Amino acid sequence: METRYPRLPTDTDNGLLVIMSGPSGVGKTTITRAVERSIRDSIFSISATTRARTDADVEGVDYHFVDDATFSSMVEGDEFLEWAEVFTNRYGTPRAWVEEQLARGRLVILEIDIRGAEQVKKKMPDALGIFVLPPSEEELLRRLRSRKREDEATIQRRFAEAKREIAQAQADGVYDVFIVNEHLEEAIEEAVGAVRAARE
Ligand code: 5GP
Repeated sequence: METRYPRLPTDTDNGLLVIMSGPSGVGKTTITRAVERSIRDSIFSISATTRARTDADVEGVDYHFVDDATFSSMVEGDEFLEWAEVFTNRYGTPRAWVEEQLARGRLVILEIDIRGAEQVKKKMPDALGIFVLPPSEEELLRRLRSRKREDEATIQRRFAEAKREIAQAQADGVYDVFIVNEHLEEAIEEAVGAVRAARE
């Protein structure tokens, strides 16, 4: 069922939810953050996660890092618009915050996995789903290796997972737009264009 939001005093009158997904190593975070910078009134939704914080992560900027018990109580309290387990950790989107931003007419960007996207599209069919693809499987494997973050076994697991995810994304009709990230600047332009078009 479509969710309707009460109108609050807003900077625009045009709330929109954008879902960005794609396999790891495809460059989706860079594209997502560029969309956020390019579009006025857009705002990135900060998920809660049970994943351990790395040196590259900033609490409250990349994620809200919580322990397992806290995450479970948030699930029980219906605090998530969607949540999913990804690579043994749980991640969830804060429901009340997202609803309030939409009611204010803002453009809210979720960077979530495909199972999360399915849940959101069911609740909010007007959400725009964007899936970022690598130019080829070989290039994705090369990018995963070049991050030098993981050992070869982990890279191979992520690669296999990525191929499954891409096939599923193309089959299940959750995504409205597929963007191939061959040249980053062009991919950003395409993503910004798709979001602007959906907002109009
Ligand atoms: P990472 O740990 O590398 O930051 O994220 C791992 C995966 O979890 C990515 O595919 C990312 O899009 C996904 N993810 C991050 N936050 C959420 C969320 O709130 N919900 C869901 N379903 N997936 C998320």
